[in-house]
Amino acid sequence: MDVHPGDITQIDTLLGGIPGMTCVQVVQGESPALIDCGAQTSAVTVRDALHAMGIGADDLAWVVLTHVHLDHCGAVGDLAQAFPNATVVVHPRGARHLVEPNRLVQGTAALFGNLAPVMGGLLAVPEGRIVIAEDGHEVALGGGRVLRAVHAPGHARHHMALLDEGEGVLFSGDAIGVQMGGGDLYPSLPPPEYDVDAALETLDALEALGATRAYVSHAGPTADPGEAFDQGRRAQSAMGQAARESWRTAPGDVEALWQAVEQAWPSDGAIATPEARIRWTAFNWLDNNALGLAGMAEREARTA
Ligand SMILES: [Zn+2]
Repeated sequence: MDVHPGDITQIDTLLGGIPGMTCVQVVQGESPALIDCGAQTSAVTVRDALHAMGIGADDLAWVVLTHVHLDHCGAVGDLAQAFPNATVVVHPRGARHLVEPNRLVQGTAALFGNLAPVMGGLLAVPEGRIVIAEDGHEVALGGGRVLRAVHAPGHARHHMALLDEGEGVLFSGDAIGVQMGGGDLYPSLPPPEYDVDAALETLDALEALGATRAYVSHAGPTADPGEAFDQGRRAQSAMGQAARESWRTAPGDVEALWQAVEQAWPSDGAIATPEARIRWTAFNWLDNNALGLAGMAEREARTA
């Protein structure tokens, strides 16, 4: 648990028992908000950390989700039970997956195979506990402080960022990229919805919000948001273009696509340290990038 400026506390969810994989943040105040909640297997870790901060069972007001991938939202049902006054805030496209999580959980299990139990599932959230955040929706934290939802498609269509305008802080989810274990910032481009055009537009829109601090979900505040946006843009642009070109010459060949993508924007920097390599390989994140880009190229080929 790390206390940061602006009454923001970061909790490491210890996903897969590994520190520095996935973090969630608490914005303190009259009506405290938890931003993302980690995988279901992290529910007890996050609950206990909230209690240790003095946020009792009745005290948590909001659980705000950046998107409904299980490493970000899987604990939501368990935490909704542990904090009965908390309202869950989610993108319009994400809400139904919280009420009826079977499809989301099964899709994730298919993707992660024998790693799925490490991620866990998702306990359904009663519909009455959910608020749908349209673009611009404001979550009131008390004392005039708000978190503004900014729809941020690309990584997924149900993805949004949260802006704390007063503090100049952006919680950017997975839009910018991932930075773990001392490696470089590097994109997260998962199936089934990754879309490079939407992702690049999102990066421009988020950068224009002018935040001076940006948190990435994996795992923590970036050193310099301007540089992070720049790198995220260059990386996703190069990788998206390489994927499209490869799919045109060798449709259906995921391995060839990934070789082309690696040549265009190598992952070496992201996995440069042993600590980074452990985190990147724990859930086969690079394979997911290959599948996300292949899925995008295939979708585009079908609709061309
Ligand atoms: Zn995600």
